[in-house]
Amino acid sequence: MILVINCGSSTIKYQLFSQDVATVTAKGAVAKIGEPGAYLDHQSGDQKITLEQDIPSHSAGFELIINTLLHAEYGAISHINEITAVGHRAVHGADVFVESTVIDDHVIENLEACVPLAPLHNPANLTGIRQARALLPNVPHVAVFDTAFHQTMPPPAYTYALPYELCQQHKLRRYGFHGTSFRYVSRRTAEVLHRPVEELKSVICHLGNGVSIAAVDGGKSVDTSLGFATFCGAMMGTRSGDFDPGLIFHLHNEVGMSLADIERMVFKESGLLGISGLSNDMRTIETQAAAGHARSQLALDLFAYMIKKYIGAYAAAMGGLNTLVFTAGIGENSPVVRQKVCDGLAFLGITIDNTANTQAVRGAERVISPPDAPVSVLVVPTNEEKMIALDTAELAALPQH
Ligand code: ADP
Repeated sequence: MILVINCGSSTIKYQLFSQDVATVTAKGAVAKIGEPGAYLDHQSGDQKITLEQDIPSHSAGFELIINTLLHAEYGAISHINEITAVGHRAVHGADVFVESTVIDDHVIENLEACVPLAPLHNPANLTGIRQARALLPNVPHVAVFDTAFHQTMPPPAYTYALPYELCQQHKLRRYGFHGTSFRYVSRRTAEVLHRPVEELKSVICHLGNGVSIAAVDGGKSVDTSLGFATFCGAMMGTRSGDFDPGLIFHLHNEVGMSLADIERMVFKESGLLGISGLSNDMRTIETQAAAGHARSQLALDLFAYMIKKYIGAYAAAMGGLNTLVFTAGIGENSPVVRQKVCDGLAFLGITIDNTANTQAVRGAERVISPPDAPVSVLVVPTNEEKMIALDTAELAALPQH
């Protein structure tokens, strides 16, 4: 079986896949590592359990996960040898990792070198990789990077018009994120449409708590809205998306905000929450907007408007588009957002069928444009864990050296 690990600073999420990656045998998460109220949630078949106990470290968290997977009553395996490979979600692979990679000591050194580019995420990923390798030393471990899919972007898409040498020296460029999601969705889109991925010029809108849009031409990322940091591009739950960076100087020099205050503002106090003053949750925003709350209406309108502008921009970048795909929490579940984003884009060939758009078929892959529309509009639920498991199974099957 393939174990997929997503290790954050205080959480470890896991999913255990069958060897052919067709089914999820067990899944769960430990949360609040090193904090009061730590717990493990675990599900195997119909059995669901929550264990509340001290989890002082990531290593304790991993041991708990393995013991839970081995548990006679609610576990999923009877011997640790049944785990044949481990896939790790890795956030930032810089320009070093252009595809998923079997982890060895050299890979770990390179991952360490990427830490300054993702100081919040990469240290936790590294901890996860080290602990999992210590507990399961005899199986291949594979790193799957959020950034890797976007390494195919051409220089004009990833270069910032800043002094060239400075950018080279400090690796300042657009990297993009959510690559594992885009890769999975791009692949599934071709399968759902029964078309070769090479034919597709797609704009994929990953609309979750984090939001990013990608232009995917022939299965390869050619541009994406997130860049070096993870607050730019389209607006998100609590992150601003694009605004004039001149505001940062103004807020610092004239208003007296510290850089730490500004950083908190753009990451935690902006987006849907900042505009509405109510919530970062799209469900609340939609309900409040429908009830006449003006700032929620503005938050909803702005959210859709920023995405719409990216669709136009990426159609231009690719010289046209024939597929528009919605994914992640909001993209999969909000007919209102999908409709608003598509309104007025008929000139690009984008129209959606109201019945198909509003049908509540949670979790289903589906086309929501009319059959003869020039652009196929789809809802494709993302599954980053499955993509990680598929890569892991594939790389683990190769001869290891
Ligand atoms: P993450 O980026 O953390 O993985 P998700 O992809 O799960 O996030 O997306 C979470 C967001 O999806 C929530 O903030 C919520 O606003 C939105 N969402 C979930 N269900 C619905 C729904 N039925 N209608 C509108 N928005 C929804």
